[in-house]
Amino acid sequence: MSRYRRVLLKLSGESLQGKQGYGIDPDKLSAYAQEIKEVVDATGTEIAIVIGGGNIFRGLTGIGKGVDRVKGDQMGMLATTINSLGLSAALETVGLESVVFTAIQMAPVGRFYNKWDAIAALREGKIVICSCGTGNPYFTTDTGASLRAVELECDAMLKGTRVDGIYTADPEKDPSATKYDTITYDEIYEQNLRVMDLTATAMCRENGMPIVVFNMDKPGNLMRLLSGETTGTLVTE
Ligand code: UDP
Repeated sequence: MSRYRRVLLKLSGESLQGKQGYGIDPDKLSAYAQEIKEVVDATGTEIAIVIGGGNIFRGLTGIGKGVDRVKGDQMGMLATTINSLGLSAALETVGLESVVFTAIQMAPVGRFYNKWDAIAALREGKIVICSCGTGNPYFTTDTGASLRAVELECDAMLKGTRVDGIYTADPEKDPSATKYDTITYDEIYEQNLRVMDLTATAMCRENGMPIVVFNMDKPGNLMRLLSGETTGTLVTE
């Protein structure tokens, strides 16, 4: 039994690079695919995924190098599509069907996203991978993930990170930081916690979308979360 009927899983691009510092680490990709397969088999949760592109390109990085922001963001969105195709291939290898949707027309690389086709695929038990974030420059994949979570009527947005949840300060920089088990959208804003960008947090807040920030780098954590164990930090009203 799953804690949630349908979730949006956000994976960062950076997490795919593993120890190599750039691009896609095939071992990391197949570990994620295996973990998702086990969770689907055990809990039957419908899973939509939004994946970032920071392991390949970020629009902001291009600015200092003479790349116009909009072009840079388009490069970033294409990077998310490369990651999405990689994840889709890895899911296929472990026996899970998936559909890659793109927020920008690029058939036959992926299907042009629309809510109803994506929901139909989820109902058929396929993993839906939504690439290109929102499809617009000046946004992030966190915002893309919050948008898709709301649109696809998910029960929660699960933000996979490399730390155990939301802390009072960055735990990788401040060893005295302590973790929240729960926190409100407003507290994130008031305390200026940089767990997600404000647009994404506002989108979830305005639409009552719970967020769980959890450590995706700990094997078995996704299973724990979907089986109902408390892990990570829950963000609600
Ligand atoms: N991006 C964009 N619009 C979106 C989502 C992403 O322009 O709706 C671009 C943006 O340039 C961003 C890059 O894609 O820097 C990669 O996304 P993000 O930085 O969110 O990836 P992550 O940090 O999660 O790997």
